Formats: sequence, structure tokens, C-alpha cells
Amino acid sequence: MRRPFICGNWKMYKTVSEALAFINEAKGLVADAKDVDIGIGAPATTLKSIADAAKGSNIMIGGENCHWEKEGAFTGEIAPGMLVEAGCDFVIIGHSERRQYFGETNETCNKKAKAAIAAGLTVILCCGETLEEREAGKTTAVVTDHVKNGLAGFSPEEMKKIVIAYEPVWAIGTGKTATPDQAQEVHAVIRNLLVEMFGKDIAEATRIQYGGSVKPENVKEIMSKPDVDGALVGGASLKADSFAQLVHFNK
Ligand code: PGA
Repeated sequence: MRRPFICGNWKMYKTVSEALAFINEAKGLVADAKDVDIGIGAPATTLKSIADAAKGSNIMIGGENCHWEKEGAFTGEIAPGMLVEAGCDFVIIGHSERRQYFGETNETCNKKAKAAIAAGLTVILCCGETLEEREAGKTTAVVTDHVKNGLAGFSPEEMKKIVIAYEPVWAIGTGKTATPDQAQEVHAVIRNLLVEMFGKDIAEATRIQYGGSVKPENVKEIMSKPDVDGALVGGASLKADSFAQLVHFNK
């Protein structure tokens, strides 16, 4: 059985003091959640502080992006090893906002994911279609392109550190959630693609999160689908009580 993974993605929200207040509150609220992995992807400036604050709890901390080189003249970038040193367990790669606004491509995602895994991080690799692409019947093609090229050349060992997040762009921050059936349909496409690429065992073991307007009111239904193994949550992860309800999706 795949262990569910509920992960917040704070994007460009929260100062260090706001982030610390969240973690200190959330720690207590999710301490009883045993059968689920719990993560918060947070702005770089907060990572060290919140990773320290989360130590000994069941909350993992992650970055929202990284570079593929270990160090170098790359102004503004952060190396995977720097995230590890700050106390991160994972990093989100290829979020649609990064693809859309910061020129992220399948090729850069592939390099970043490989480097992050080499540094010891788990990678949440994001994929998903725009509304235009969905309406043109291109959802499968776009998601296949993101996953196939994002994971090109990965070894079975590397795949153990990969989580995939399916996030339809039209559902992100819009209040429009994909229906559980729409999510399941695409998750099944991804799972089948993983079978083709890496074989049945790896495909069965890889977690696929859904993201896009997940909230306490709809998380249970989405999580009930067989190929939905978690959620990547923006807006509803910003408040500790709402985040804790997501973590307790089964209650
Ligand atoms: P949302 O964002 O939950 O606010 O729609 C999800 C995401 O972008 O990861």
C-alpha cells in the first residue's frame, strides 16, 4: 500500500515569524496522524528556522525549487545541498507557476530532480495541463510529456525518491477542483506511463498527489480514488487548523 502524502505548498507566503507560528501550532494538531506523510514546502528564507522547529515532529520541510549544480555563479539560485543543510527532506520541482513565470522546462526539471535526489532529497515533480490544453483534448499528451521527459533517464533507485503531483493548471488557486473522477482518470494515465517506463513494481510504489484547490471539504472524496495518494495544497495549507484537517482527511 502506498503511504498517503499530504503536503502544503506555501508559495511566496509567510515571513519567518509567521512560518514559525504555523509550525508550532500545526505540530500539536497533527501529532496523532500516524499513517500519513506530512510536508510543508516553504519559502527559502524560512526553511532553516521551521526545519529546526519541526525537528522531532512528524512534519517534513521542503524547498519549492532548487538548481541542479552543487554551487557556482548562479545568482539567486539555491543548490540542493543547501536545502539539505537547512534541514529539508524534499523539494518541489516543476510547479506550473515556475513553468509559466520562470521558464522552467522539462529539461531543467529533469536536471533539478536528478541533482536533488543525488543530494538526498525526495522530489515532488509537478505536471498538469492548462484549461486551453484540456479543452483541446491534450491533457494526456501534456501530462505524458511532463512526466516522460521530467523522469527521462531515471534509475529504479532514483524513482524511490520521486513523488508525482498532478496539478491541472486551471484548478490551481481558482476554487475549481478537478472532480475526483477527473483526477483519477489522469492519475491512472500517469500510473500506466510509469509501468511502461519503469515496470509494474515501481509504478505501484510511486505516489501520485493531486493538487488544485484541495481543501478540507473535498480532500476525503479526492483521496478516496485508487490512484490518488496524496495532495499538494496551496491556499488551504496556509492556516494550521485547515492544514491539520487535510492531514486528517480520513476522519
Ligand atoms: P491551491 O494550489 O491549493 O491554492 O489551488 C495548489 C498548488 O499550486 O500546489
